[in-house]
Amino acid sequence: MKFVDEYRDKDAAARMAAVIAQVTTRPWTIMEICGGQTHAIVKYGVDQLLPDAITLVHGPGCPVCVTPVELIDKALEIAALPEVIFCSFGDMLRVPGSHRDLLTVKANGGDVRIVYAPLDAVKLAQRHPEKQVVFFAVGFETTAPATALAVLQASRLNITNFSMLVAHVCVPPAIVTILSAQHNQVQGFLAAGHVCTVMGYTEYEPLAQRYRTPIIVTGFEPLDILHGIYLCVKQLEEGRASVENQYARAVRREGSGEAQQLITEVFEVTPRQWRGLGAIADSGLGLRERYAGFDALRRFGAAASGATTPTECISGLVLQGIKKPQECPAFGKRCTPEQPLGAPMVSSEGACAAYYRYRRQPPHSRPTLQETNP
Ligand code: SF4
Repeated sequence: MKFVDEYRDKDAAARMAAVIAQVTTRPWTIMEICGGQTHAIVKYGVDQLLPDAITLVHGPGCPVCVTPVELIDKALEIAALPEVIFCSFGDMLRVPGSHRDLLTVKANGGDVRIVYAPLDAVKLAQRHPEKQVVFFAVGFETTAPATALAVLQASRLNITNFSMLVAHVCVPPAIVTILSAQHNQVQGFLAAGHVCTVMGYTEYEPLAQRYRTPIIVTGFEPLDILHGIYLCVKQLEEGRASVENQYARAVRREGSGEAQQLITEVFEVTPRQWRGLGAIADSGLGLRERYAGFDALRRFGAAASGATTPTECISGLVLQGIKKPQECPAFGKRCTPEQPLGAPMVSSEGACAAYYRYRRQPPHSRPTLQETNP
């Protein structure tokens, strides 16, 4: 398949890994931001192709994983109401709140539905005027334009039985939080290519300068990631720190003006609580006052505090790249995709799910670059 096969080529990957080894003279720690990149790294063994001096650590780029438990508890409370149709992407169904998940609410009679786009929830609201339809808007800047479009559509059609629980988060403030942490080990970043297709990468340029840290906008295929690592290591070895665009086939420096306009029309930047990283200023998107009528928290009441998470779940450390999933004592024992203790074990972008799926198999039965492109 064009734009896929050529980025999974085993020989090309080996050549790229050799070039990385040639330019590497010292140990470097690089964080990939996005959970999609984490899955590609773990699935195809990209990390195992690299010289020992390079350590990859996994970042907080799984929006489902960083959604705070308080908000998940609120989602569960709303979803259990008899007058509500609660809509969510499939990833959220198994994410544990303090005491249950959306699947349990559904099993107990709640009307919980999986949608593939926020506009599907608006259509449901049109079809069910007797119900309150609530959409759980979880995601980075990548999905915010589609959420904004749903709000604008509901507003245009004067739909009054539609609202959303907004949990959108923005990447650059999370990078600042990681770089400012006392124990920070990260020396370079692979930024999430899909976020940058929307937002461009001008926001990252002052960060690369201020923190003297290379940031490489990177795609999601194994060769994209290897190329991003090469560009990052080259900068580190040469003492440079700037933003480079590895994912030029999809990303422009200024991003998509139309998508940014949609976001700006509907949302304003707000503080946001991140699971694992805590409160981060200016890191969330909230509905502007003129669209506040679509805010589920105003309609159904604010999220309560007092949420609880299992003490043995170290997802906060995993999401900051401080620990790897296998270092969690519950990994694969008390925490599995069937019985998850934390969101990273169930989300399709969660690091724990990636390690559970791909690193527990014997090496010969794992997916490899060669099998993908024989
Ligand atoms: S393996 Fe499970 S319990 Fe451990 S950090 Fe991951 S989600 Fe939490």
